[in-house]
Amino acid sequence: PKIVIAIDGYSSCGKSTTAKQVAARMGYGYIDTGAMYRAVTLYFLQERVSFSNPKEVELALERIQITFNHNPKAGRNETCLNGLNVEEEIRKMYISNLVSEVSAIPEVRWSMVAQQQKMGRRRGVVMDGRDIGTKVFPDAEVKVFMTAETYIRAQRRQQELLAKGELVNLEEIIRNLEKRDLIDTTRAESPLVQAPDAVLLDTSHMTIEEQVDWVIELADR
Ligand code: C5P
Repeated sequence: PKIVIAIDGYSSCGKSTTAKQVAARMGYGYIDTGAMYRAVTLYFLQERVSFSNPKEVELALERIQITFNHNPKAGRNETCLNGLNVEEEIRKMYISNLVSEVSAIPEVRWSMVAQQQKMGRRRGVVMDGRDIGTKVFPDAEVKVFMTAETYIRAQRRQQELLAKGELVNLEEIIRNLEKRDLIDTTRAESPLVQAPDAVLLDTSHMTIEEQVDWVIELADR
């Protein structure tokens, strides 16, 4: 029987890279819930939606459609906002700088959580995020909570950005990670917290392959 694998944790611990490969090896779907909050953030900026106005936020959410389109050439899923591929844009630093503020808005969370529950209703998915094991799928069969040392996370993030041509200094990345983690762990609506039944995984000194094997072994138990 197909199960749900929930991978939660702090920013840049390797959640999405691990989740993607676990999904590929198990023949499961992969859902990057962070990409959805990033796409909402992009839309709010493009349409100049006032974050503090719940009515405006609600109306804007009704006009947003987020899908994941498989691009066989690139061998990856691409996040689409109202049919347009925004995969590159949503990974940029200016989105990272605002996404946690947007994700803390209750109306935004209600809308995203409902969509994520729909996407995983037939199970057979690996979902990564901050509240998958606590809120989206509290009944997930496998729950992983990832952490890593801040300095190591920042270095990985810097490499990722660099690979895409964005040069950002380490201090700015550390500030961004710490700020996002703080907002994520202290917001009122489903804050980032380890589910009581989640297994902790510190990836500071692990390779991607080791992380993937570790999760698959946990799922096979
Ligand atoms: O996973 P990623 O770092 O791309 O997520 C971007 C941001 O989206 C996180 O810092 C967090 O503020 C928010 N997020 C969330 N709940 C999720 C996934 C992401 O609040 N399930």
